[in-house]
Amino acid sequence: MCVANLKAVPMKSVAVVACMDVRLDPMEIFGLDLGEAHIMRNAGGVVTDDMLRSLAISQRKMDTKEIWLLHHTDCGMSGLDNDAFLAELEKEDGARPTWHPRGFNDVEQDVRDSYQKLVEDPHVDARRVRGFIFDVHTGKLHEIGLAGRDAHGHPAEKVLD
Ligand SMILES: [Zn+2]
Repeated sequence: MCVANLKAVPMKSVAVVACMDVRLDPMEIFGLDLGEAHIMRNAGGVVTDDMLRSLAISQRKMDTKEIWLLHHTDCGMSGLDNDAFLAELEKEDGARPTWHPRGFNDVEQDVRDSYQKLVEDPHVDARRVRGFIFDVHTGKLHEIGLAGRDAHGHPAEKVLD
């Protein structure tokens, strides 16, 4: 579709929060086309304050209804020693960053932690969140169950409302 004919509002009402890893193509993985979803990326695909800001704008001003979290195997953030990295930056740059690196040890747990951050934020509607892990070696996408959702993203008996 020609960009000139697209509206800024995502046609599939989806906002994807994904890792910036070069092996990850969120549009291709989810079979999305231009104009269909917001794609928000950072190191790890973690839910930071700026992700919350973007999601609040995506939901309130661009009418997105669903959030898809996309993490992956062999992530550079997996196993990153947060304290050591902070100390390294402080030593080399003479200042400690105001942000946290958000390295993690368990990719599936980090999807759940990211989901929890969405649930706890008063400005984000977290009633429709799906969590995925992409295997960079097999190219397969694995959906994990989050609270209120089964492993296929369908509402479980009790959905958070
Ligand atoms: Zn990654």
